[in-house]
Amino acid sequence: MSLFDKFQKNAVLYNALSEAGRNPFTVQMDEILGPTRAIVKGKEIVLAGTNNYLGLTFREEVVSAAQAAVAEQGAGTTGSRFANGTYASHKALERALAAFLGFSRCIVFSTGYQANLGAISALAAPGKDVIFIDADCHACIYDGCQLSGAETVRFRHNSPEDLDRRLSRLDGDEKYAGMGKLVCIEGMYSMFGDVAPAKEFLDVARRHGAYLFVDEAHSFGVYGESGRGVVEAQGVIDEIDFYSGTFSKSLVSIGGFVASNHPELDYLRFSARPYMFTASPSPANVAAATAALQCIAAEPDLRKRVWANARRVHEAFTQLGLETCAPPGPVIAVKLPDRETAFAAWSFLIDKGVYVNLAIPPGTPNAASILRLSVSAAHTNDDLDIVIDAYGAMAETFAQARVTA
Ligand code: PMP
Repeated sequence: MSLFDKFQKNAVLYNALSEAGRNPFTVQMDEILGPTRAIVKGKEIVLAGTNNYLGLTFREEVVSAAQAAVAEQGAGTTGSRFANGTYASHKALERALAAFLGFSRCIVFSTGYQANLGAISALAAPGKDVIFIDADCHACIYDGCQLSGAETVRFRHNSPEDLDRRLSRLDGDEKYAGMGKLVCIEGMYSMFGDVAPAKEFLDVARRHGAYLFVDEAHSFGVYGESGRGVVEAQGVIDEIDFYSGTFSKSLVSIGGFVASNHPELDYLRFSARPYMFTASPSPANVAAATAALQCIAAEPDLRKRVWANARRVHEAFTQLGLETCAPPGPVIAVKLPDRETAFAAWSFLIDKGVYVNLAIPPGTPNAASILRLSVSAAHTNDDLDIVIDAYGAMAETFAQARVTA
């Protein structure tokens, strides 16, 4: 028995993709020309798969803040938040995020992955708490549940009714009397671009005495009147218990955070292992996220632009007869019938100068095969023309992508 036997099943797929000449696991951006353009294998392509929703990666204020931070504070902190790795800039960013979101406190982690992993694993304990998790939640929320050791109950995606049923079952069970309950959902889900009914989830959670944790990784900056996410758009930001986010999308950096009004959030600083036992975000990462946050707070136009672009692409796709997985939004996913067709269509789009994300089983909800396109405020009309033309040609070539002939 070899250690490597377990890789065989996926190795077959991996090798087949490599033989087909284009392996999504190994594609490299040879040169980055700007927020929406790159060179791949000598060819200029439109980037339409990034999480750069507000297009701030090359913004002068963001880039110069990162450069100044490296010059003034060095390349890395060489220590964890818990040891020598908390600088004044980490604390200032925590205050800025808390103020922007309207929470009393916030903790910055080294990535969004670690923010969810750390918070969930520290909040729930085996034999003391039960976690309820939306089936489509991100891997790091699942991993947080696992690391916590607490019993975890999965409920049907975006179904407050199913959550209600599962919580009700526990309410009548002696075994669970007095246990803490934590419900985890996301604001906008990254694969299909669909949005959680956060208000309904909050109502259900409250009725059963459960806490609500919302990961707004993809919706921060994009949803809500002032960019505070789906919970702002649905008017419940002041009522939820925990708000998590990442710097790796609209904040165009690396890092993550959890905010709350519960004073006990501070205890995570000495109980969340992914906070304590890993290096803190670099000064450049912190400075870039801080500058991007200032842009987001000061420029509602960024949001207007990403939404206008999203509506334009969504409308064009509908006219092309393409089935999109959700109403207009910054993530526009098109489902294909199987993995092979999705791969061929993805490859076809690259030939037409458009890079989107290929998402195929086993990494996708319901074993769906999708092309995940994401729209940025930085996409120009020229960029979007290229995207729409490429999808038009794709719809002609892969009739299976269309719902109407
Ligand atoms: N939550 C969700 C919903 C995500 O999609 C991601 C990353 N794609 C993360 C958390 C983790 O963010 P990060 O890249 O900062 O680790």
